[in-house]
This record gives sequence, C-alpha cells and structure tokens, in this order.
Amino acid sequence: MRYADLHVHSLASDGTCTPKELVKEGVKRKLSAIAIVDHDTVEAIAQANESAQGTDLEIIPGIELTAQHENREVHILGYFLDYKNNALLETLKLLQQNRISRAYKIIHNLEGLGIKLNPETVFNISGTATVGRMHIARALVKDGHVNSVSEAFFKYIGDSSPAYVLGFRLSPREAIKIINDAGGVAVLAHPYILHDDALVAEFVNDGLEGLEVYYPEHSQSMVNFYLDLARRLNLLITGGSDFHGQAKPEIKLGMVKIPFELVEKLRQARK
Ligand code: AMP
Ligand code: ZN
Ligand code: FE
Ligand code: FE
Repeated sequence: MRYADLHVHSLASDGTCTPKELVKEGVKRKLSAIAIVDHDTVEAIAQANESAQGTDLEIIPGIELTAQHENREVHILGYFLDYKNNALLETLKLLQQNRISRAYKIIHNLEGLGIKLNPETVFNISGTATVGRMHIARALVKDGHVNSVSEAFFKYIGDSSPAYVLGFRLSPREAIKIINDAGGVAVLAHPYILHDDALVAEFVNDGLEGLEVYYPEHSQSMVNFYLDLARRLNLLITGGSDFHGQAKPEIKLGMVKIPFELVEKLRQARK
C-alpha cells in the first residue's frame, strides 16, 4: 500500500526541519507523498521539490491559512495550489506582516502578566520564517518562563489563554477563495478544534471541498463521525500528522497517514 502524510510543517513556518530534511524523513518512512502546509507561506515548496528529485517521494504543494470565524480560529488547508501565483504571493506577504504585529501584541500581553520577553528572542528563533505562537512558546521555554512548549500554550498563549491574540482577519470564505484562485483545493484542518460541527456545512457553502478526517488528536470515534460527515456533505477526505519536527517531538512524520487513492481524488479536484 502507498501512503501519504498531508500535514507537514517546515522551518519556513514553525516546524524545525528544512525541506531537505523533510524529504529525507519521508523517504525513510516509505511515504509516497508528503504535503508541506506551512502557516501562511509556500516558501519551502520549491526547495522540497528539488530535494525530492530522483526519489519516490512526491511533494504536494500546500498551505495552512489561519482564518477567523466569530471568535474562533479556523485553519484552512490548501492543496495542489500554484505556489508561484503572484496574487497568492502578494496576499501571503500581507499575512506575514500581520503575524509580526500579532507577535508584538502577544509579547505585550505577556508583559501585562508579568512575563518580560524580549521580541528579539522570538525573532531570533523564527528567523526568516512566518512568525507564530510556536516561536513565542519556544522563546518562553528558552528564557525559563515555562518548562515546555505545551505549558506555554496551556498557561499563556493557547486559544483560550490570557495572552492569546487572534490576529488575523481573513474569513474562512476569503481563505478558501485565496486557495481556489491559486488553483488549489480547500480543506478544513483538524475539525475537532471547532467544537461546532454545524460550521462545516457553512464552510462548504463558502467553497470548502475537503475535511481533515485523520489527525493525531482525533479518536477513532471522531474519525468515524467525520467520515460520516464527509460522506453526507460530499467532501474529500484527507489526513496527516501535523509534523513540526523538534517543536512537537511526540509527533513523528507519517504517524498519521492516508491511502494514496485519497491523494488521487484530491488531485482530481484541483482547479
Ligand atoms: P499560530 O499560527 O501562530 O496561531 O500558531 C499555531 C501553531 O500553534 C500550530 O502549529 C499549532 O500546532 C500550535 N498550537 C496551537 N495550540 C497549541 C497547544 N495547545 N499546544 C501546542 N501547540 C499548539
Ligand atoms: Zn504549526
Ligand atoms: Fe492547524
Ligand atoms: Fe498545522
């Protein structure tokens, strides 16, 4: 059987592996394809393609866009998009600037909680990547404010924690349109974080075509539920590990993988 992991982050966002390392790991784990879905950037894809030349590993171009619905964060995955599309690259530039100002806001909130974090510590960790909460979490660990990334999220920067800032103002509909306009297929990431499955049907009206059914945090009963939901709404089925390298060491590449025929169905939906 051939398998694919369709949820992988690189150093271009908040993973810790270079594109080349991801290819090496994908080959080692005998995957047929990996999709690189960095937050708000497609920067790693060209290099991954180059590294995968001459291997049996296919690199599926992708992205994970952060959108907002009411007071909730919604992650929209885009697959098979044209990662050289100019309009896409222009939009991503704006989103990346938003991320920088959001990082400052979170740092400001932390200060209000008595945690003095130098922005430079965060930006030294993120480097040229799109900055995000994972980098802030790692900075909090580095300066000894918390013992682990998960403690940083739990205490300070998780979605319902006191220093959290939502940041972006893309609606799910806008995120889906950005993906579609670049030829990609829009898929709802890790639906369990929504805590409101009725929203999925709403997003389908906005152009959503797939559901990330297989995900490390999804129990077997949740998988069954989402399989059924995907069938009822006529959605494509995807899945992946949300691999972040050393930033989330308990997650291994390919820990969640899907049969390759689901990739072929996804490919057929490309614009
Ligand atoms: P951002 O795009 O800056 O909002 O950050 C999103 C990243 O934070 C994702 O890669 C998630 O894996 C990570 N994340 C969100 N919530 C948690 C959590 N409770 N524990 C660990 N990582 C988290
Ligand atoms: Zn991430
Ligand atoms: Fe996500
Ligand atoms: Fe992710």
